[in-house]
Amino acid sequence: MKIAELFYSLQGEGLLLGVPSFFIRTSGCNLRCSWCDTPYASWNPEGEEMTLDAILAEMKRYPARHAVVTGGEPMIAPQIAELTNRLRDVGMHITIETAGTAFKPVACDLMSISPKLSNSTPEGTFAAQHERLRIQRDVLEQLMAQYNYQLKFVIAQAGDVDEARALARDLQAPSERVILMPEGTDPMVVRERSSWLAEICKAENFRFSPRLHLDLYGNRRGA
Ligand code: SF4
Repeated sequence: MKIAELFYSLQGEGLLLGVPSFFIRTSGCNLRCSWCDTPYASWNPEGEEMTLDAILAEMKRYPARHAVVTGGEPMIAPQIAELTNRLRDVGMHITIETAGTAFKPVACDLMSISPKLSNSTPEGTFAAQHERLRIQRDVLEQLMAQYNYQLKFVIAQAGDVDEARALARDLQAPSERVILMPEGTDPMVVRERSSWLAEICKAENFRFSPRLHLDLYGNRRGA
């Protein structure tokens, strides 16, 4: 499968924040978010074909017991089911980070679903496709029904919370599974957005997620 990067780091977002994890970033995405922080796995998919054996061999170099399969959109990657089964066979805890637009029967302990709000829609050629695909309600319901999940929304402005809240209610997601995270790759911007988003989370009983990797490493690949 085409892999953009493999690296060992701390999970920077969501329920498993801070857990040492081996990251497998597949290359290729069916969406084109305007603010995508991994364009090398979506807008301009880079990487090389790797066998599952080679991926697992690289993982064995590290002491992680958690694997995070991310992208791009890992749920459209050929061999995603086989990869997750191999990870399970060696006893890894598996998180899959997905936008929730495609379903495959994967092995997964935490389905980290990040439905894309209207703030993600780009201008230009990809706008219509992105807008048509970004919310697939039947897929979201299927993922939520079949896996332990978190619903993680990327928030750029306070108005985005209305959209996140409406979708979470529509999907009947309990508030403790809903995570709001500030959008941004500039630590200063993320800090400013965090200050008002934290207050919204307190008022509405949603979980707040920082972007730990930005604080620790800045906006760079492999971290
Ligand atoms: S779904 Fe994720 S990887 Fe794909 S364009 Fe959006 S942010 Fe980037």
